Amino acid sequence: MTTHFIDNRRVAAIEGGHIDVIDPSDGAPFAQLARGTAADVRAAITAARRAADGGAWGRMAPADRGRLLHRLHEAVAAHRDELAAIEMRDCGKPRRQALADASALARYFEFYGGACDKWHGETLPYTPGYAVMTWYEPHGVTGHIIPWNYPMQIFGRSVGGALAAGNACVVKPAEDACLSLLRVAELAAECGFPDGAINIVTGYGHEAGQALAEAEGVDHLSFTGSAAIGTRVAQSAALRHVPVTLELGGKSPQIVFADADLDRASPAIVNAIVQNAGQTCSAGSRLLVERSAYARVLDALAARFSALEVGPAARDLDVGPLIRASQLQRVERFLAAAHADGARTVAQGQIVPDAPANGFYARPTLLADVKPEAALAREEVFGPVLAAMPFEDEADAIRLANATAYGLVAGVWTADGGRALRVARAVRSGQVFINDYGAGGGVELPFGGVKSSGYGREKGLTALAGFSVLKTVVIRHD
Ligand code: NAD
Repeated sequence: MTTHFIDNRRVAAIEGGHIDVIDPSDGAPFAQLARGTAADVRAAITAARRAADGGAWGRMAPADRGRLLHRLHEAVAAHRDELAAIEMRDCGKPRRQALADASALARYFEFYGGACDKWHGETLPYTPGYAVMTWYEPHGVTGHIIPWNYPMQIFGRSVGGALAAGNACVVKPAEDACLSLLRVAELAAECGFPDGAINIVTGYGHEAGQALAEAEGVDHLSFTGSAAIGTRVAQSAALRHVPVTLELGGKSPQIVFADADLDRASPAIVNAIVQNAGQTCSAGSRLLVERSAYARVLDALAARFSALEVGPAARDLDVGPLIRASQLQRVERFLAAAHADGARTVAQGQIVPDAPANGFYARPTLLADVKPEAALAREEVFGPVLAAMPFEDEADAIRLANATAYGLVAGVWTADGGRALRVARAVRSGQVFINDYGAGGGVELPFGGVKSSGYGREKGLTALAGFSVLKTVVIRHD
């Protein structure tokens, strides 16, 4: 059985208990996680508090923090294959995706390691006789609740940024995907991170996760996950006036005008919905196409969808399994409802014949004529399902793009530069890609949502502001 990782040590769950770890490729249990409760969360917060307030981590010079993060970058890069192998089994990720996630994790530590000693305040003009400056100080102890879809990437962006700003971290990974992060915490200890700087408590969301959201002694919370749970976490934090970053779901549109370069757009559009089996917050899950090009674009995408192969992680095909049986059932429910609402299946990929019968495999599906008011056009499926619908003109495209509760990412495909910028301005989302689409890409690029996709930004230097408290110091010297 695995343990928590607190104060640089493996620690068993105080109240005992375990959670089975299932391999999504064959549905078989292969490990057991420690089932954390409020008592374990309290122990982790105590360790983090010691590290942050006058401990070795809190007293460390920013340049030394940066050196440690760079060492961790090198350690993760050196263990890339091992971490990818863990993730393939734990999450069902095809090898290419698992390797990409490990590389992204390393890159976050590289990026934030370089930022530690370059993150500074300002001096401000004020009344004569005064000098005014701002300091960025760490919150102290930051809590990080992480989903299962990209454990390594989301750990890197959230914990990497928080550590760079000088915080000590308590992390609650998703119960479906903890194993790679436990290994990363061990690597951090081997790199010399002081006790208590990085702590991981595994367990269920309604137990360990809720305990972290409600705990005294956490000064900032970073939550990545569903809108429903994010709302509850933010409510708990509000009771203690603790700031929260919410990185929630999406229903991101790909807006394709008739003059778009289809050779460039088609592979990117398909990749943006099948990457990680569609289990990506920023998946491009709605396809809005100018009516005059609708049939042509669907034809081009249908050829690519039909060629997609789905199978076990070890086969490294286009698409791996979904994370668990309930996720597969969710995708199937959406497909059934879409058909009942009049949508038409244009093309589907194939599950390879030798895929284990008990794996959680969903066929990538391209659906056309999805009505804007249908569930499939508004709700996050979190599976490889692309919902296509036509639009009449630029105004109609913008109206449809904004017609969901979410606002995470948008893609605009057109040869008309003015139109691309007009649409980019009018779409309500945290990121817009023009003639490209990067689901989750770009460590340097601030990321986050509007509306039900959340608030606050992670990634890039911008994230450091969220992981810091700005203090204004006013000196009278006349
Ligand atoms: P989820 O909300 O069910 O779980 C996320 C995390 O919250 C897990 O660690 C879970 O254990 C924990 N949790 C569950 N109940 C809790 C509670 N009551 N209190 C505190 N914590 C609790 O989401 P999920 O199914 O793991 O992830 C999928 C969702 O995450 C999708 O909606 C996806 O779009 C979103 N997501 C967003 C981003 C982003 O950056 N915006 C990135 C990845 C995933």
